[in-house]
Amino acid sequence: MFADYCPNGLQVQGRDRVKRMVTGVTASLALIDAAIDIGADAVLVHHGWFWRGEDPTVRGQRRARLARLLVNDINLIAYHLPLDAHPVLGNNAQLARELEWVVDRDSQGAPVTTGANGLIWWGQPREDCRLSAFSAQIGQKLRREPIVVGDPDQPCRRIAWCTGGAQGMFESAIEAGVDVFITGEISEPCAHLARENGVAFISAGHHATERYGVMALGQALQTALGIPVQFIDIDNPA
Ligand SMILES: [Zn+2]
Repeated sequence: MFADYCPNGLQVQGRDRVKRMVTGVTASLALIDAAIDIGADAVLVHHGWFWRGEDPTVRGQRRARLARLLVNDINLIAYHLPLDAHPVLGNNAQLARELEWVVDRDSQGAPVTTGANGLIWWGQPREDCRLSAFSAQIGQKLRREPIVVGDPDQPCRRIAWCTGGAQGMFESAIEAGVDVFITGEISEPCAHLARENGVAFISAGHHATERYGVMALGQALQTALGIPVQFIDIDNPA
């Protein structure tokens, strides 16, 4: 269903029984160590391993991560694009919930999306506001100062967003007609696109915008499986 850049689901097999699970944004060495510390049998993340185009040899950083996981017999489970796009538990849905945005929905109640894999979501802030207040709320809720390009006084009525590194989707959001586009990262051309089209751009942090999907999935699994699932936030300034 998704043309993804990594395998989704079980990426590294560990022990058969999972009695305790840890969730996190990225399967970093620090997250694996934290999982070992609390005796987790599985680590569930948004950013797993084995990305397309990566050097497949098992050396250096890759060897260290893999060795730590295998020696401790821990499962690694990753969901990338499916977790961005999921209509309820996904990163886009959960970011909107966290920031109290009103999601555009069709007559069936499904979110209105555009872009590759339906990853651009549309909606409005809960209340009419200016860019300065809108971005301040994002910074406060996500605990990270966003990078904002736009007139602080411009109104934010129609908004579009995609969590993570979706700055490449800014142009299609502009074409579809939007007051402000929110994503995790910024690239140099984004500032010019924003200024020259009069559309605001907010880079709210890749990690910061993608904490909430895996957190929600972990909570759902805790309920469904009846096992403790703990989200561990290994901070990342990017
Ligand atoms: Zn991401």
